[in-house]
Amino acid sequence: MKISPFALVISALAAPFQAEVAPAASLTVLRCGRLIDGRRAVPVENAVVVVEGERIKEVGPGLAVPDGARVIDLGRATCLPGLIDNHTHVLLQGDVTAADYDEQLLKESIAYRAIRATAAARTALLNGFTALRDLETEGAMYADVDLKTAVNRGVVPGPRLFVSTRALAPTGTYPLLGYSWELKVPEGVQIADGADGVRRAVREQVKYGADWIKYYSDRRYFMRDGALRSWVNFTGEEARALVDEAHRLGRKVAAHAIGRDGIEAALRAGADTIEHGDGLDDELIDLMVRRGVYWCPTIFVGVYVAEGRAVAGAPIWKTMVDLERQAFGKAVRKGVKISFGTDAGGYPWTENQAREFAFMVRYGMTPMQAIQSATSVAAALLGQEADLGAVEAGHFADVIAVKGDPLADITELERVSFVMKGGVVYKRE
Ligand SMILES: [Zn+2]
Repeated sequence: MKISPFALVISALAAPFQAEVAPAASLTVLRCGRLIDGRRAVPVENAVVVVEGERIKEVGPGLAVPDGARVIDLGRATCLPGLIDNHTHVLLQGDVTAADYDEQLLKESIAYRAIRATAAARTALLNGFTALRDLETEGAMYADVDLKTAVNRGVVPGPRLFVSTRALAPTGTYPLLGYSWELKVPEGVQIADGADGVRRAVREQVKYGADWIKYYSDRRYFMRDGALRSWVNFTGEEARALVDEAHRLGRKVAAHAIGRDGIEAALRAGADTIEHGDGLDDELIDLMVRRGVYWCPTIFVGVYVAEGRAVAGAPIWKTMVDLERQAFGKAVRKGVKISFGTDAGGYPWTENQAREFAFMVRYGMTPMQAIQSATSVAAALLGQEADLGAVEAGHFADVIAVKGDPLADITELERVSFVMKGGVVYKRE
């Protein structure tokens, strides 16, 4: 095999993962016991995937192996599209309590946090996630843009990154909070007030590389009359200006919205995706279906933080676990576009983000629906359905494999044995 200087760089830096890089125009053939292609309802048995350079050339059963092709025989393994997680924080390392969060912003430099983010990105890739929508840096400014550049240039291994930089919230609504007014402490977001201030902040984030705009629609969650309510952060005028400016600049908007008030405000403002959404009720679910708004439920993080936050004085987080289970079941039945999104980083990157799948199935999805939420549906949320989320001719050669059958046991996706991104093999067990 002819190895280009670029390939040597990747091989050296990806060690001990031994990225196997084929020359640009070379052909690689994957043999899969079965293929779940990300779109079709049934798997294909004994599939062959022909990869040319960074893209898939041909897919099907019984295809001939072209002359000179490198063959990777995955035996009886099940191949799938590379997984997509549409809600992560590579620059965060767990956030159960305010103390966990504040420590990272107060005691870790952005340089150190960016180094940890490279480890998180590598972890995600080796767990089978070949694309992430990373929903804000939590005080680490534009370090997500730098990480994306480093991955794209082959400096460090990682998923394809769609980044939102600093996120937005008005004065006094987002950590760090509670410190003496004499101290200047870091902000976990970009603070912006007023319609003009919000527009200027959106422009600045786009200028420095934001692919998406993220904002915090609400905070302070509480129950009233059986509904999960919340305090809305921005005025209607501010939120509409934020969404309008983002859309004018060709960027979509992700809204953190947990209580019914925050979700309703975000939908009224025109947000494209609702993050968390624990307080979704029938009326809001119907509105999301009519408007085609996507939902990233982030179930596992809610379960992960509930006990610790209850002990720290916020028992509402335990109630929210039950509410989200109910909302999820309803949303599946009513046909909301549900994308896989985990909030990884909100829990430590030592937890495999694929644990989310088991909750989605337990809460009402079929295993195939859960897989599609992290492949074709997630790619559509990103507007990347022509390139990502399916093992089809013309798509990027982002392919993973598991030894067992994820349709029989969805937790197989927690044990990914093979990872290819853009025709480059990063993991092969
Ligand atoms: Zn988040």
